[in-house]
Amino acid sequence: MNKPFSITEATVTNRTTRPEISIVVPAYNEAANIPVLVSEVLNVLGPGADIEILVVNDGSRDETAETLKTMAEKTPELRYITFSRNFGHQAALLAGLRNARGACAIAMDADLQHPPEFLPMLIDAWRDGAALVLTRRDDRENVSLFKKISSSAFYKFVNVLGDFDIEPGSADFFLLDRKVLRALNQFGESRIFLRGILPTLGYEKQILDYSPADRRHGASKYTLRKMISLGLDGILSTSINPLRLGTIAAMALGGLASIYALYAIYVAVVLKTALPGWTSVMLVVTIIGAIQLFVLGVIGEYLGRALTEVRGRPAYIVAETNIEALAAEIDGEETVQ
Ligand code: UDP
Ligand code: MG
Repeated sequence: MNKPFSITEATVTNRTTRPEISIVVPAYNEAANIPVLVSEVLNVLGPGADIEILVVNDGSRDETAETLKTMAEKTPELRYITFSRNFGHQAALLAGLRNARGACAIAMDADLQHPPEFLPMLIDAWRDGAALVLTRRDDRENVSLFKKISSSAFYKFVNVLGDFDIEPGSADFFLLDRKVLRALNQFGESRIFLRGILPTLGYEKQILDYSPADRRHGASKYTLRKMISLGLDGILSTSINPLRLGTIAAMALGGLASIYALYAIYVAVVLKTALPGWTSVMLVVTIIGAIQLFVLGVIGEYLGRALTEVRGRPAYIVAETNIEALAAEIDGEETVQ
């Protein structure tokens, strides 16, 4: 699977065989960066490398669409998808991975912060057998204080509330073998949080450290609003823990409420110091409060289960089998478009 195809095959656009490597690049207003990125990637991987570069133009409002069109006429390796509007980085990434034809796919940013010189390292790890090569940003240099703080807060928040353990400094710079792409395609949800899901797929993975470069042109497209929305997606798309808050509150407050209710009865019956009406009001407030929280918790549990089903995630991912029909499904070469 990993052996390179010949150069002539690599340069045919309407190919029927897979390229060895797909480079997937989400791009939002990156007209200035794309030509630099494409030429650096082609340079680093060398002439004749069997690759395709798939740029997903996430509804850019600059000349990204025109740039892609003109460049694609001269660059057979370049393919593009242009969205009707801005759907966000994760959606663009997903579109790219779903349409990647390579025996492996590498996701990287368009702004050259994920250095093209690092690509051979990812590819070598894959050739050595890792199905999943993830990267960790080395934050010591080249990263602004705001980015450092916001990124570390982001991972703390997501890891605590979510159901996973994402390496701080993970970015969407990774390599996936085709079998991982196939597993990913079994996930039915549309608001997928790749960084959280990839480490849970269970394939042999390797994590490499890289130093990020400066953004080549333009400013970051990740506004605070987009970052918060990514964090919420991360938690809500992966975990049902927040829904459990009702159950936890019902247990904690329900216990306290029953103690308080007993106390109210004690004051009325034994001490006989209660004002008229106080005990009945206290009993109603504590009992109804506890029942409401309990019912909210029950609704939360059902909602959580409904959510899990609606996501349509695979119940399992098969890695190997001697059942022929199933094996054909796992290794089956989907038709290359
Ligand atoms: N991006 C995108 N859609 C968006 C925002 C960003 O496709 O709505 C792309 C962007 O063009 C870049 C990558 O996602 O290729 C990472 O974005 P950026 O560099 O702005 O984020 P940062 O590096 O500041 O976290
Ligand atoms: Mg960037």
